[in-house]
Amino acid sequence: MKLLVLPCDGIGPEIISASMQVLEAASTRFGLDLAFDYDEVGFTSLEKHGTTLRDSVLEKARHDYDGVILGTQSHADYPAPEKGGRNVSAGFRIGLDLYANVRPARTRSFIPSNMKPGKTMDLVIMREATEGFYPDRNMHLGWAELMPSPDMAISLRKITAHCSNRIARRAFELAMKRRKKVTAVHKVNSFHQTDGLFLREVRKVAADFPEVALDDLLIDASTAHLVRNPERFDVICATNFYGDIISDLASELSGSLGLAGSMMASDSHCCAQAQHGSAPDIQNQDKANPVSMMLSCAMLLQWLGETRGLPQFEAAFRAVDAAIDTVLTDPASRTPDLDGKVGTKKFGSLVAEVLGRP
Ligand code: ATP
Ligand code: MG
Repeated sequence: MKLLVLPCDGIGPEIISASMQVLEAASTRFGLDLAFDYDEVGFTSLEKHGTTLRDSVLEKARHDYDGVILGTQSHADYPAPEKGGRNVSAGFRIGLDLYANVRPARTRSFIPSNMKPGKTMDLVIMREATEGFYPDRNMHLGWAELMPSPDMAISLRKITAHCSNRIARRAFELAMKRRKKVTAVHKVNSFHQTDGLFLREVRKVAADFPEVALDDLLIDASTAHLVRNPERFDVICATNFYGDIISDLASELSGSLGLAGSMMASDSHCCAQAQHGSAPDIQNQDKANPVSMMLSCAMLLQWLGETRGLPQFEAAFRAVDAAIDTVLTDPASRTPDLDGKVGTKKFGSLVAEVLGRP
């Protein structure tokens, strides 16, 4: 399997390097035969090539690789898009049609959560990632935000039946492998047409999955339910913007943004990227928690296992997940964001060591 590794900005290179130790160990133990090539995106690419994302990188990711491992992008001090400051994640989402952003969040009994005592959470957010409110998802169509006058700005939100239908299908397929429940989040009382269209498609797909229970909640009510009653959720199906916000809430409630993996997939491509941002305040200090990036890489292994029919990749996914938990169980082997003293690099070698044990 050939994977393209793009460390990008901020803590990206550090968390990717720690994750590589883990992938190498998993590759050896499960005979995955992984090969890695590196390239530049983000600031280093901007300096060398005048753009944060070259079309040639997208092209080779599309044609020559089985998956992409993407670091975090800084959004500070970037030039405008016409001067080379392209949003790298958005470039991949649109360029490779990575419409499904899969974001699990779960509590771990040994890590303090940010919820009321006794509350547990084990859910996955299935977030649409190619349309919605984000101006850069519409740039390729020739429109983004509008500013009819200096004192008025307008955002436009595009929702289509096609994109709603395919994200709903992914949500139901996932629910079939879990607790068989999908919750669609929306704001149909205000956005009759856009959220109405989304809900119509979700209900249409639900008819093909009679074993899965479907309910729906307003996005505002969902945030209250997540805090009050997190165990009611299994798979949450959401349009882009709602899914983005609710996934930060879910992962922070579960303990920390640094603990939640994230993967973006189309029907033929997959990209692992941590859920959090580039954390410029701690970059190059060996303080970043690499767990989110490691779990994202593990999700890429799982996706490869499923789509290529390779059970050893699924086994590697489970082993990485378990090895991370083994290391996190000891408070002394956690990174500073979890009140530990271990650095990013050391954490990587601890997880790799656990994986290497027979
Ligand atoms: P960006 O513009 O890239 O989103 P940001 O300044 O918003 O950058 P985030 O990455 O979103 O920064 O992080 C918010 C806070 O959480 C920062 O204080 C950051 O240090 C912390 N943080 C984020 N990710 C991690 C991580 N993996 N390990 C430790 N701390 C993290
Ligand atoms: Mg941020």
